[in-house]
Amino acid sequence: MRALPKIDRGGSMERLWAPWRMEYIINDKPSGCIFCSAETSERDRERLILHRTPLSFVMMNRYPYTNGHLLVAPYRHTADLNELDEAEMLDLFATVRLCRNALQSTASPQGFNIGINLGRAAGAGVDEHLHLHIVPRWNGDTNFMSVLDDVRVMPENLITTYERLEPVFAAIRGTDNISRPL
Ligand SMILES: [Zn+2]
Repeated sequence: MRALPKIDRGGSMERLWAPWRMEYIINDKPSGCIFCSAETSERDRERLILHRTPLSFVMMNRYPYTNGHLLVAPYRHTADLNELDEAEMLDLFATVRLCRNALQSTASPQGFNIGINLGRAAGAGVDEHLHLHIVPRWNGDTNFMSVLDDVRVMPENLITTYERLEPVFAAIRGTDNISRPL
């Protein structure tokens, strides 16, 4: 294995430097809610949006915990689970299932963490717009990380991951998201 760059541990989770992070720092930061700015279908690739359903959409996390870390959000801007109607809840979870299946077929993970962080206290980076996290996991990935003392390694570029996943979603585009899992 190549020698890893020295990092400031500082007691918190650190990520290795990666080129896409520098790209993000240089580019203008999006203003406002990142999930609401995703409403139009222009520049989906640039925004790392992989898939859209009538009520929700799939976006790659720019700061992933693992390769293939996806986010699913309703279009409606709300932080409150109680504001989702039944159609939105069904659509959201069907989309989570779609993400799980797309990741399974492209990256063969051995497990998943799927969940919602509600509120800053729970670790939500964007706490004003509900979203679900789908994080693929592989046996030993935590051991690997602990060996590196809280370093998270992102060996695959975000766009490379996007290009692997996008055709899987494209194949079911236009079909009924809920009754037709991948
Ligand atoms: Zn929003």
